[in-house]
Amino acid sequence: MGVLHVKPAAAASNTLAGRLARLGLKTDADFALHLPLRYEDETRITALADARPGVAAQFEVEVTDCDVAYRPRRQLIARVRDAGGALSLRFLNFYPSQQKVLQPGTRVRIFGEVHEGYLGPEIIHPRFHPVAAGESLPDGLTPVYPTTAGLGQATLRRLIEKALARVDLSDTLAPDLLRRLDLPGIAESIRFLHNPPPEMAQSVLEARDFPAWRRVQFDELLAQQLSLRRAYLARRARGAPKLGPTAQFTDALLKSLPFKLTGAQQRAWREIAADLGQPHPMQRLLQGDVGSGKTVVAALAILHAVEAGHQAALMAPTEILAEQHYRKLATWLQPLGLEVAWLTGSLKKRDKEAAIARVGAGDTAIAIGTHALIEDKVEFARLGLAIVDEQHRFGVRQRLALKDKGSFAHQLAMSATPIPRTLAMSYYADLDVSVLDELPPGRSPVTTRLVAEGRRDEVLKRVHDACRTGRQAYWVCPLIEESETLQLKTAEETYARLVAELPDLKIGLVHGRLKAADKAAVMAAFVGNEVHVLVATTVIEVGVDVPNASLMVIEHAERFGLAQLHQLRGRVGRGAAQSACILLYAQPLGELARARLKAIFETNDGFEIAREDLRLRGPGEFIGARQSGMPLLRYADLEDAALVERARVIAEDMLRDAPELATAHLQRWLGGREELLKA
Ligand code: ADP
Ligand code: MG
Repeated sequence: MGVLHVKPAAAASNTLAGRLARLGLKTDADFALHLPLRYEDETRITALADARPGVAAQFEVEVTDCDVAYRPRRQLIARVRDAGGALSLRFLNFYPSQQKVLQPGTRVRIFGEVHEGYLGPEIIHPRFHPVAAGESLPDGLTPVYPTTAGLGQATLRRLIEKALARVDLSDTLAPDLLRRLDLPGIAESIRFLHNPPPEMAQSVLEARDFPAWRRVQFDELLAQQLSLRRAYLARRARGAPKLGPTAQFTDALLKSLPFKLTGAQQRAWREIAADLGQPHPMQRLLQGDVGSGKTVVAALAILHAVEAGHQAALMAPTEILAEQHYRKLATWLQPLGLEVAWLTGSLKKRDKEAAIARVGAGDTAIAIGTHALIEDKVEFARLGLAIVDEQHRFGVRQRLALKDKGSFAHQLAMSATPIPRTLAMSYYADLDVSVLDELPPGRSPVTTRLVAEGRRDEVLKRVHDACRTGRQAYWVCPLIEESETLQLKTAEETYARLVAELPDLKIGLVHGRLKAADKAAVMAAFVGNEVHVLVATTVIEVGVDVPNASLMVIEHAERFGLAQLHQLRGRVGRGAAQSACILLYAQPLGELARARLKAIFETNDGFEIAREDLRLRGPGEFIGARQSGMPLLRYADLEDAALVERARVIAEDMLRDAPELATAHLQRWLGGREELLKA
């Protein structure tokens, strides 16, 4: 059948409005805040004869010739000359409008670097615009704006000029505040950056700490803080059931545990209990390095909710982890006479329906599971507390979906990926945070060794010896991110190889494609020390807890991310035995891989590692910004902790003392985009 494929979105994006939308440019304020990436010196004309290779300069020339060539590929080539020289302009991508300008006889000013091409001297993709003879030169530096395909600097500059003439740039910060912060006014800063005065040196203007830039950075951070703070206050204004204070179940659990809570656990638990007793929803992140003991704190919160007559749910990102939580909580809570429901995708239909029915009827107060907990069919009779473990593994939507199973549930997120301070102050500013900064006693730090692949035999011997003395080991397969099939194949090959190489040991294999029952069986055998070496893919990355395992080998460690390596390493060092993590790597190492291995070798401190991870990957990757819908900062730098902190304090003052200025500020910076931040 003759079906015409119309792509309205693509068509629309080829219009000027579409291109501007791609840059987020709609309102006058958007244009005013679309600031130059850099500046170029177009105040002088250089003669072609004086061009120096590799040095950007401006030339004024006449077009002698302009043609589309097809070899080696389609390209536009123009020949130009001035009084003393000639050269080619080459465009590998070009628009008909550009071709139209470059007609023989046209006088143009071009800006770019001259290189020696195969047709003689040339400039690839110069910026250019037609001029009349004797047209005056700009007397200040020319701003160069971030742009998108098909949108030229000249058009963009014209639109910005127009917007600047109309836009209201009245200051949202009071004069005395500006004096205190030692910042210039916003209107002068913005106008200055778009139209720098003649005497301004490029290096000064482009420096990050130039006062006008400082002001813009501050305003951007302030907008972010205001927005987060407002979302936080809005959520606080909503109601939630006041839970507690009751202590019968929690006391009983504490008495039955074979250990005492660490000081950090006690503190976190007090903070959570206080939140649960408030009439508005808790929004707390419980953050603690791997092995710091978050599960027991979650169990206490669950008991608190249950005792207050509500239901509690705990969601984990993988079957293995959910199952482990289920087992642990069942052993802790069943002696108190509480039923724990278990809900995952792999349950038999009948069992799943039964669990859903009991949760829906309120017959069982506690539900533990995977994503299956947030399926539409699942309804809670009276959900009062939603806990998400390893929260960074879930998308924003999934995280909120669990809480939304109760009309006004309290929310606790847990994460072993520590958030560096600046990120905690910015992207996570709407969460209250409890930190477990203390490991349970009796742990010895894990020693990390970097071993080149060529010495695999020594590593094998070490694994063998450890297992012969009653210890257990993890053997983590090389990561193959591009292909799950290949990943699976590699896991099976690694397993077969180790079975052959360590004939007197029992080897197990666990990977993501295994049926849930088989996975559970292998894990149970490992927990029971019937399997000595567990060959695993990254399914064990999160949360797995087998204290007798004291050795971990990671093959092709250079392929793993920093946070991933830290999480994996956290699977050992959970018992009293001295533990080790051996990172096998293949040479040659790329620069990033080398930096990651160095960081993981040098420190065991999750915070230190998170900071390094942030540095290596940038904040967008770190927080999964695409997923969160949070616009990234354009001008400010999250590493600038002092400025972030100042913006945080002032955002609070502003919302309290000058809410109308706060609204104006948000409108200017975020315009219609603010709803994105509500997650
Ligand atoms: P994580 O924070 O990584 O989720 P877990 O909650 O799995 O850590 O705890 C790791 C191990 O430490 C578990 O075996 C747990 O029972 C044990 N544990 C937790 N708190 C303490 C404590 N205060 N003293 C001793 N062991 C503890
Ligand atoms: Mg955990």
